[in-house]
Amino acid sequence: MIVDRDKCIGCTLCKQDCIVSDIEMIDKKAHIRNLTCIKCGHCIAICPVKAVSCDDEEEYSMEEVIPYEKEDFTIDADKLMNFMKFRRSVRLFKKDEIEEEKIEKIIDAGRFTQTSTNMQDISYTIVKDSIPELRRMTLGTLNAMADKMLGSEETPKHLLKYAHMWKRMYESFVENPDGPDQLFFKAPLLIIVKAQNEIDGGLASAKMELM
Ligand code: SF4
Ligand code: SF4
Repeated sequence: MIVDRDKCIGCTLCKQDCIVSDIEMIDKKAHIRNLTCIKCGHCIAICPVKAVSCDDEEEYSMEEVIPYEKEDFTIDADKLMNFMKFRRSVRLFKKDEIEEEKIEKIIDAGRFTQTSTNMQDISYTIVKDSIPELRRMTLGTLNAMADKMLGSEETPKHLLKYAHMWKRMYESFVENPDGPDQLFFKAPLLIIVKAQNEIDGGLASAKMELM
């Protein structure tokens, strides 16, 4: 992260807002040490004169920084609430091809979701042609897990119903692989979200789902 000393007016806002105390004031101008910086972008956002930027495009692309415009950044609270209430688990999908730009928008919703300490520990895998193979592998794994759960006295009672359900799903798949798909519901495309931190993965998935 760098500060344009010619633009900096020495207001200290960036220094006050830096969670890892990586900014010092030298001769009344901000200086970023880049020792503990987590590239959270707070200093870029808070600077009133746009003096802060990132010089490493791979780590933090300045092209993706959009200036705040109230009209473009505001959603009516009631509409947002309705939108969240309207959220459903979808189990019936159209067979339509999904346009590239829609897939990219959904992944961007994940990419721009906050992660703990800006770890950005998430990656995305799009599965299309290999869905039948993935279904076979996943159901096989769930079936093996179910066997373990049913064979153990330590399995919590409330989880046993899932073990029975997984076994039924597996058996019905073995009987008729082209029959009803109780796992992916014949979705035309899957996006698998992988994260080191489960909460980060959950947050990104929730935003992607809304998108
Ligand atoms: S990007 Fe975040 S952590 Fe890095 S200097 Fe700016 S405010 Fe501090
Ligand atoms: S917020 Fe901007 S103007 Fe204020 S001290 Fe930091 S770099 Fe300088």
